[in-house]
Amino acid sequence: MTLESLLRENICGLAKSMYDRGLTGGSTGNISARTDDGGLLVSPTGSSFGRLDPARLSRFDVEGNLIGGDAPTKEMPLHAAFYDTRSTAGAVVHLHSCHSVAWSLMPDVDEDDFLPPLTPYAIMKLGKVKLLPFFLPGDPAMGEAVRGLAGRRSAVMLANHGPVVAGKDVEAACYAIEELEDTARLAILMRGYNARALSLDQVSDLVKHFDVEWDE
Ligand code: ZN
Repeated sequence: MTLESLLRENICGLAKSMYDRGLTGGSTGNISARTDDGGLLVSPTGSSFGRLDPARLSRFDVEGNLIGGDAPTKEMPLHAAFYDTRSTAGAVVHLHSCHSVAWSLMPDVDEDDFLPPLTPYAIMKLGKVKLLPFFLPGDPAMGEAVRGLAGRRSAVMLANHGPVVAGKDVEAACYAIEELEDTARLAILMRGYNARALSLDQVSDLVKHFDVEWDE
């Protein structure tokens, strides 16, 4: 099996796993990953994470020309914004995941630091998550908003819509977006209980100890 066919299988397997666990439903969600020749594999428009076909993923060359597969997701500008501003991005994933969307509807969430500091791995895998405003689906302004962060964030939450996370490879991006959804779920579960979140000192220890990208 070639490296590229392994990557194709990997993308579809991770997407199906997230679909099967209810992390994104219907034909929502999209995923992309860098190929070893500098091109991209992208989930096609209208496709379901439950049934992605490795052979039909949209294939771009290093110059960004579509050279194979079906037409890509409409949210391509969002993916491109991460690749163009973060040299370390090897994959980008976007979900319509229920709890993170619910948390984005809360009136008092911190737009600069969307998730409360509840568990270490969310901090280690995501850094600070930026809450972006609501955009019409497919609006190029979404990509512009990500570009406006100038590569300082690996994870954003689109209000009333869903999270988008970049990682060094598909596993890293998928595992990080799962932390985002789990933390939003925990935040909702604990809302109103005066939960003991991590302290500022504990967060700064984590950031130092694990060399976390932490945009001050
Ligand atoms: Zn979406």
